[in-house]
Amino acid sequence: MKRRTLPLLTLIILLALTLPALAAGPGVSPDAALTMLKEGNARFVAGKPKYPHQNKERRVLTATKGEAPFATILSCSDSRAPVELIFDQGVGDLFVVRVAGNVAGTDEIASMEYAGEHLHTPLLVVLGHSKCGAVTAVVENARLHGSLPALAAKIKPAVFKTRMAHRDLSGNALLTAAIKANVQQALADLFARSRIIKDLVKAGKLKVSGAIYDLESGKVEWLEPHPGEKGLVGGKAGAK
Ligand SMILES: [Zn+2]
Repeated sequence: MKRRTLPLLTLIILLALTLPALAAGPGVSPDAALTMLKEGNARFVAGKPKYPHQNKERRVLTATKGEAPFATILSCSDSRAPVELIFDQGVGDLFVVRVAGNVAGTDEIASMEYAGEHLHTPLLVVLGHSKCGAVTAVVENARLHGSLPALAAKIKPAVFKTRMAHRDLSGNALLTAAIKANVQQALADLFARSRIIKDLVKAGKLKVSGAIYDLESGKVEWLEPHPGEKGLVGGKAGAK
């Protein structure tokens, strides 16, 4: 009898030791997570990536122990903006939601809620990028077919706001401003529609930031905190 119960007890103890670690997420603070992204991007820009967490051991570890990514990234599908490479990260590091124009629709918000609530990622970044084709299509009022008009509809408010706020802008300057506004729009949509995300931010468990990736330099520019987050945490939010 004792011989049978001992392995079972060992298993229970092992599980008890393992589960809290997984439930607590990556064990990284929001600020530390932001620093990790900034440092990874600096390595990428400098052409000195470390390619961390890309070996067999990491693959097997995350497959067997589960994932605990330290950041959630909503970014564009553009093939020139590969998220793990930009931030020099590897397997199990980033929970990435990619969609053309980095819009925050229902499915994207649900994915980000899953990462925040169940994986306990401490940082959420909405990442736009220079020369974004989806934003360009809306700025240029391109004729769209199939399902694309529904996607463009999520980008249109940002382009409209940009035109209203900067009547003097045109061409590339207008596009650049619209890309930034589109990141802010996704953050506004997220805060307007997700109670889960708002509660996590309020509790200090999640930091949210907007950023723009430059296709040519490889550099990520961090935006000022979104007003939606400032209101939740008394103006101390966002990337500095
Ligand atoms: Zn894009």
